[in-house]
Amino acid sequence: QAYNERESLYIALNFAKDFFVKNLHTEEGRAIGLSYFKERGFNQNIIEKFDLGYTLDGWDHLLKAAKEAGHSEEILLKAGLVLQKEGDPNRVYDRFRGRVTFTIHNLGGKPIGFGARILTQDKKQPKYINSPETEVYHKSDVLYGMFQAKKSIREKDNCYLVEGYTDVISMHLAGIENVVASSGTSLTENQIKLIKRFTDNVTVLFDGDAAGIKASLRGIDMLLEGGLNVKAVVFPDGDDPDSYSRKVGSQVFADYLVSNAQDFIAFKISLYADEAANDPVKRAELIKQVVQSLAKIPEPIIRSVYVRQSAKLLEIEEEIIQIELNKILLKVQ
Ligand code: ATP
Ligand code: MN
Ligand code: MN
Ligand code: MN
Repeated sequence: QAYNERESLYIALNFAKDFFVKNLHTEEGRAIGLSYFKERGFNQNIIEKFDLGYTLDGWDHLLKAAKEAGHSEEILLKAGLVLQKEGDPNRVYDRFRGRVTFTIHNLGGKPIGFGARILTQDKKQPKYINSPETEVYHKSDVLYGMFQAKKSIREKDNCYLVEGYTDVISMHLAGIENVVASSGTSLTENQIKLIKRFTDNVTVLFDGDAAGIKASLRGIDMLLEGGLNVKAVVFPDGDDPDSYSRKVGSQVFADYLVSNAQDFIAFKISLYADEAANDPVKRAELIKQVVQSLAKIPEPIIRSVYVRQSAKLLEIEEEIIQIELNKILLKVQ
């Protein structure tokens, strides 16, 4: 049977997924990969649900098996599964070696790429290696976990947005399935459109560190611009959703999300509150920050609701906010 290139890529990626999943249950896989997942609290159920796997240590385990099964080097290369040897592009070798793997699915559940985590503390190697951009994996269109989350996002009419693969998985373990990950990169317009297919409400749960807060501020403004209603939850310093849910347990974690979800204005204010309390300059800065976000909201009625709320939370006149807002809005047009 003849397949076109796209079909061949999907078939090769599915072969790789099956191969990595199988490897997890070899002697090496159990000793290294499976025990790692177990340590993180991942059970067999969740391992299957997310097609978690393991890539054996070595240069050509996948390459050999895939070629034996009839996949060409060209397709494996185009699928991002193998790499060309430097200085000898006719030789290829496995991209993922000696790592646990996180399968990235498209909306229909087909494997389109992988994230692979290192298991040692080797600081010379990146913690995660990810599939490259391919004909079937357009990173800017994909959110990790959407296949497993979409039904729940519709039902709950809310989408939790986290940074990492393991945050998504730990939240499923905690019984929260309406969650997707940006995989550590900044959000794109297409990713926001993807969320909008299922809900208008997003709750941002980024890591409780400086990088996470910075990323969440940027993400919030993009989500507002996309016309979404945005809330945020802050985690204790150094925690991410995965580490925090394991620390406090599923029930406390679920309660924490509910009772700590702030709308984006309160979130921004809370970040600057300490500094702004006694310092008029900082306070003016905070007001400008809030107004910046308000200016992103495309819908005038919704914007005006938030203007009122901001005035209340910042304890200033609504008019002042409106004047500052108009400065930005009029400049844009
Ligand atoms: P873990 O809990 O396993 O340490 P994490 O998801 O908490 O992982 P972070 O450092 O918070 O890891 O990064 C968030 C996400 O960013 C990761 O899940 C991954 O998708 C991506 N990422 C992290 N480090 C890298 C890297 N070196 N290269 C590419 N992507 C990365
Ligand atoms: Mn982080
Ligand atoms: Mn993290
Ligand atoms: Mn983590």
